[in-house]
Amino acid sequence: MTPAPDQQLSEGPADLWDLVIVGAGAAGLTCAIYAGRARLKTLVLERMMPGGQLVLNHIIENYPGFAEGVSGFQLAEQMHLQATRFGAKIETAEVQALRLSDPFHVVTSTGDHRARAVLIATGCSPRKLGVPGEKELYGRGVSYCATCDGPLFTGKPLVVVGGGNTAIDEALFLSRFASQVTVVHRRDQLRADPILQERAFENPKIDFLWSHVVTEIVGDHSVQAIRARHVVSGAETQRPAAGVFIAVGEIPQTDFLPPEIARDGAGYIIADHHLQTSVPGIFVAGDVRAGAYRQIAAAVGEGALAYRSIREHLQRLS
Ligand code: NAP
Repeated sequence: MTPAPDQQLSEGPADLWDLVIVGAGAAGLTCAIYAGRARLKTLVLERMMPGGQLVLNHIIENYPGFAEGVSGFQLAEQMHLQATRFGAKIETAEVQALRLSDPFHVVTSTGDHRARAVLIATGCSPRKLGVPGEKELYGRGVSYCATCDGPLFTGKPLVVVGGGNTAIDEALFLSRFASQVTVVHRRDQLRADPILQERAFENPKIDFLWSHVVTEIVGDHSVQAIRARHVVSGAETQRPAAGVFIAVGEIPQTDFLPPEIARDGAGYIIADHHLQTSVPGIFVAGDVRAGAYRQIAAAVGEGALAYRSIREHLQRLS
C-alpha cells in the first residue's frame, strides 16, 4: 500500500533541499518517488543517465511484476518518469565532495547544493582486470557493458571474463550476435545462479576456458586476441577475439565522501538498520551499502526504507 502524500516539511531558500540523493539508480529513484510524494524538496544528482547499473541489463527476469522480464532501460525510464512526476528534480552533475556542515554542502561539477539530509545511492562501477591492453583498447573491443556494445560484434568471436551472474548474463546476451563466446573463468566452477548456468551450458555458441586468468589483451588498433594462463600449470594459451567483455565484479563509488562516513575494508558504506551512516543525516541505500543484497528488488526496498528514516530525521530537525 502506498502512503498518502504528507505535508511539505520546509519551504526554505531556493538552494536548500530537504533531501539530496546522490545516484539515480534503483535505490535513489525509489527514494525520490517516495520523497516527492511526501512533498519533500528533493534533488537527485546523477553523473550519467538515470538508471545506474539498471540500464546495463538487457533483460531483468527477477524483478516482480514483469512475468516476461523487462529491459533495464525500460525499467529505469519508468522509475525516472515516476520520480519526476511527483516533483523530484533530477540533474546531471558529478558530485565531487560532500561537506559535513549544517546544512550539508554537496559540491558538484555544476555548482553547490545545501541539503538537510543526503542519501548516498551511488552503486558500484565495474572492476578492472588491470592487464596490459585493457586500458589501451577500451572502446576498441574492450567493454564493460554487453548491452551497450554487444551488437557491434555480429558474427565475431568474443571473450567474456568472469564467472558471476553478470558474466553469464552477458555471455548469453552476446551469443545472439557473436559467432562464438568463450567465458574465461579463474576457477572450475561458476558463481552465477543455477538457472543462468543451465542456459549457458546448453548454448552451443558458449564455451569455457576454465581455471584461466587473462594476462593480456592483444591488438594494435582493436582487439584481436587474449592471452591467458592456467592457474595451476602456468601453461599459456591465446584465443582470437574481436571483443573482450570484462565482468569481474564491482567496486563501490565512494571517492567523493569524507572519511567521517565509515566504510568497510572493501570501501562499502556501513549503516545501521535504518540505513543511517556513521554521520547523522547521511543515509545510504543500494549496492554501495556494506552487506547489501545486490539485486534490483533489494535496492528498491532499501530506497523505500531510506525514505522512511530520512523523513523521521527531518521531522526531528524541524
Ligand atoms: P560477482 O558476483 O562478484 O562475480 C565476479 C566474478 O568475477 C566471479 O566469478 C569472480 O571469480 C571473478 N573475478 C573477480 N576478480 C577477478 C579477477 N581479478 N580476475 C578474474 N576473475 C575475477 O560480480 P557480478 O557478476 O558483477 O555481480 C555483482 C552482483 O550483482 C552480485 O551480487 C550478483 O548476484 C548481482 N547480479 C545479479 C544478476 C541477476 O540476478 N540476474 C545479474 C547481474 C548481477 P570467483 O568466482 O572465483 O570469485
